Amino acid sequence: MRTQFLPSGLLAGVVSLVVVACASVDEPPVAATDATWFEGARLIDGGGGPPVEGAVFLVEDGVFAWVGRAGEREAPPDAARVDLSGKTVIPALIDAHQHIGLTNVKDGSHSPDNYTRANLVEHLERSAYHGVAATMSLGLEFDEALAFELREAVLPGAARFLTSGRGIAATPMAGPQQPYRLGIPRGARTEAEGRAAVEELHGHGVDLVKIWVDDRGGTVPKLEPPVYQAIIDEAHARGMRVTAHLGTTSGLADAKALLRAGVDGFAHTVRDRDIDDEYMTLVRERPEVWTVPNLPGSPVTHDDLSWLGQTLPPFEIENLRREADRLAAEGPGAFFELQCRNLARNREAGMTIGMGTDSGVSVAWTTHTELRDMAGCGLDAMEVIEAATRVNAEILGLDDLGTVAPGRQASFVVLDADPLDDITNTRRIDGVYLRGEPVDREALRTKFMDGVR
Ligand SMILES: [Zn+2]
Repeated sequence: MRTQFLPSGLLAGVVSLVVVACASVDEPPVAATDATWFEGARLIDGGGGPPVEGAVFLVEDGVFAWVGRAGEREAPPDAARVDLSGKTVIPALIDAHQHIGLTNVKDGSHSPDNYTRANLVEHLERSAYHGVAATMSLGLEFDEALAFELREAVLPGAARFLTSGRGIAATPMAGPQQPYRLGIPRGARTEAEGRAAVEELHGHGVDLVKIWVDDRGGTVPKLEPPVYQAIIDEAHARGMRVTAHLGTTSGLADAKALLRAGVDGFAHTVRDRDIDDEYMTLVRERPEVWTVPNLPGSPVTHDDLSWLGQTLPPFEIENLRREADRLAAEGPGAFFELQCRNLARNREAGMTIGMGTDSGVSVAWTTHTELRDMAGCGLDAMEVIEAATRVNAEILGLDDLGTVAPGRQASFVVLDADPLDDITNTRRIDGVYLRGEPVDREALRTKFMDGVR
């Protein structure tokens, strides 16, 4: 398959240049054909229906032009052909919650100094490498101008960067508590400050507002209910939506108040106590409200590190091995089991369930461990795949991603084995295509490992 990777795209680029150059002013240029016919795969299209055996799809100009089965249509005579027999295709994945940029994967350092274009782009390339087409940064944009610039960029071989801009907490010091993250949020102690922050974000073209509703165990002021009500109302008046971070000490009470206030989604699940019937009733009234579970590490999260050795520096593999040993010795832990139970309760209430890694330290590959942990908490493999594809596309307002369907971007992952048999098969990636172009994973591996200790 690899031999068919580069030439079709490159050749089409050359052909279209030539066509444009030769066209006279009066005659519009004849569109160059950039068609590829993919055949033979088992297709999980992200829509939740049964997989299609012997699927065929036509990609033209980076978009799915047609999706069907063998024999329903002939390949266009000039199309390149790719045989995917024995493979499984899923839509490219989407991460609805991460915090990239502050950590340097190569040396493990955490610092605002890491928030550079080069570091962010490498994180986006790591996402692409692991089959992620778009990834949402929720609120820790140390250099907001850079974040907004990157949001507009189309980078070959890299995931799309989505951003909420700097999120809103009670004060700039009331966001995530790691020292290297302090001072980044917008602060809002009054309704007027909350509305002003939303207005500013709207001016930056943000359509998803991140708020932190958390007093960090009583150490910092918490966003007050009248203030988040004003933020939610102002956002809705401007066609924006609001996603809330819940704390670990008062999450259930805050979740209920936020549901009543009209919040659109949660960046975590409830993680301070078991969800109760009152919460279940509120969710049943508003099933469109989403949760992005991002479960903490489970004992099996790091059980297999063999698939990571080619992309992570040895010191990080060693850290993961130690963490795996610790989890194996101590068991899943109450924090994991609580969130597992609450994910099941959210599902029972019919809540919209997306997928987010909350990654900042270890980026991109954690998408696959998150999928595995969601399945481990009782979601079936199809639901987990939908969460990370179609549902996340809906949550993030991406109408061009999330499913393999005509008109959508041809961003998809080719797997060596079926994730419906075993969700960890999402790690067995044979190839990733973004906007119709194959990602050169071999070149990316070399880049990722260049300069590591
Ligand atoms: Zn987060």
